[in-house]
Amino acid sequence: MSAEGESSSTLAPKRPHIGVVGAGISGLRCADVLLANGFDVTILEARDRIGGRICQTEELGYTVDIGPNWIHAWRDSDDPHPIYQLAHDTGTPVHRWNNKQLIYDSTGRPLPEETTERLSTLLWDIIEEAFQFSEKAHKKDGGKSIPSGRSLYDFVEDRAKSLLANESERALLLQMSEMFGAYVGEPVWQQSLRFAWMEECCGGEEMFVESNYSAILDRIAKPAQEGAHILLDNRIVKILTSDEEQPGDGVILTSDTGDTYSFDDVVVTTPLGWLKKNLGAFSPSLPDRLTAAIRNISLSQLEKVYITFPSAFWSKDSGLGGFPCYTNWLSPDYATSTNPSRWPQEIWDLSAFAPPNNHPTILFYLYGDCSRHIVNLIHGRSRKEKYELLDAFFRPYYSLLPGYRADSPACVPKAILATEWLRDDLAGNASYCNFQVGVEEADADVLAFRAGCPERRLWFCGEHAAPFEECGTVAGAYLSGESVGRRLVDLYSQESNVRGVVTG
Ligand SMILES: Cc1cc2nc3c(=O)[nH]c(=O)nc-3n(C[C@H](O)[C@H](O)[C@H](O)COP(=O)(O)OP(=O)(O)OC[C@H]3O[C@@H](n4cnc5c(N)ncnc54)[C@H](O)[C@@H]3O)c2cc1C
Repeated sequence: MSAEGESSSTLAPKRPHIGVVGAGISGLRCADVLLANGFDVTILEARDRIGGRICQTEELGYTVDIGPNWIHAWRDSDDPHPIYQLAHDTGTPVHRWNNKQLIYDSTGRPLPEETTERLSTLLWDIIEEAFQFSEKAHKKDGGKSIPSGRSLYDFVEDRAKSLLANESERALLLQMSEMFGAYVGEPVWQQSLRFAWMEECCGGEEMFVESNYSAILDRIAKPAQEGAHILLDNRIVKILTSDEEQPGDGVILTSDTGDTYSFDDVVVTTPLGWLKKNLGAFSPSLPDRLTAAIRNISLSQLEKVYITFPSAFWSKDSGLGGFPCYTNWLSPDYATSTNPSRWPQEIWDLSAFAPPNNHPTILFYLYGDCSRHIVNLIHGRSRKEKYELLDAFFRPYYSLLPGYRADSPACVPKAILATEWLRDDLAGNASYCNFQVGVEEADADVLAFRAGCPERRLWFCGEHAAPFEECGTVAGAYLSGESVGRRLVDLYSQESNVRGVVTG
């Protein structure tokens, strides 16, 4: 998908020069829109590569994404989901799961299929109800009728009390609700009920990229790679804008090597976690409302652990009519030496994909304190140490899968890969934004980002500045970049004299 727009000949004689800080999806998409409208664009990226949180590794012996895997696609034929459309256009295969689940209770026994299905359906109905409840309150009074300290878990607990007479089933349902943590990257009791409507996961189709995101990234990056100046290994440490006290033209960026760059306008796409830690990089300070937004919106800690085996022992003779796509171990009581907090575990079965992407791999998603524990456990260790620590942590769970035999070589992991976003400064030491209990006006916070500081020629985009319900996603990042690009195009064409540009 390339940006529509005017040809460069319509902007003459001086092409506005826009600096984009960060070459993730939002920065690349913004650059695309600007380039297609005749702007001169320079992207300054701190890493030695483009893509930001979209990136792959070969460490398992084949290519996997260490960032996003999913496309959370809304269904609307008039307004197709941009990332789904790009997957389609680039021939990137996506997987639609079989909707079967296997759930182990806290003693490690599989729940009867009937119980799993009934409680899971009930849980999703309650979550859907919570979203509608929060949306209704949002429309009525901006959500103020829901106390800011109330969580999605509180809602599920209340509904479980009225809908389930059986106490042990109620307890099971609440344990099952913890799976929501893997969507938002922190426990379900941290998820703000008031702003539940801003979470993307209900109402669309959840697809998994079977291969990896690289073709999608390449397609988004192509216009910038062909038309922009992309300066890699350029970490921006200072962003100097003009205001009434320090009048001047444009914005000056300083990199960690002391180089300075001057632009007409600058688009900052650095992650929210980076902004939280680097408010001092802006001179003068950002306006109070924007500073508050940076502080108010919270961060999630999603991490992933891929374990690949010689063969998919779990899916053979599982007797379940096709192995369930999703397996969940509820509050395990049987692995307290490695997991004393009884963090639940979950996997997706990646052997279910169509060839050639059907690798004998299971993918664990971790969130919150469990993520922090695992990253801190393995960080800085050798590959062998990591393997041993991770295998010791996850074996209690995968060894319960059907077909597991301790003495079988097929059941010994060939390779284990764990992400460490927590340690990645350039990702803001987090995975993506979320809306946690205590936040008072998350929607206004996101709007403050989207508004940016045009008077200072300073703009913000990224997954935290996305359309509501797309925050935290690839599509949200993409659309936020597109939106800032279009606003700049509009502004320069309307205010051509003010901004020193003559349009054709
Ligand atoms: C583990 C994980 C799983 C995820 N799963 C999904 C999923 O399944 N589906 C989904 O839709 N989304 C998912 N996401 C979220 C998605 O990856 C992000 O929303 C999206 O990629 C963010 O794009 P961005 O452009 O906003 O930020 P980024 O991709 O982070 O881009 C920002 C860029 O700024 C650069 N930068 C930072 N500081 C500086 C500096 N000082 N100077 C210069 N450059 C700098 C960074 O290096 C980076 O390249 C996941 C994220 C993670 C981490």
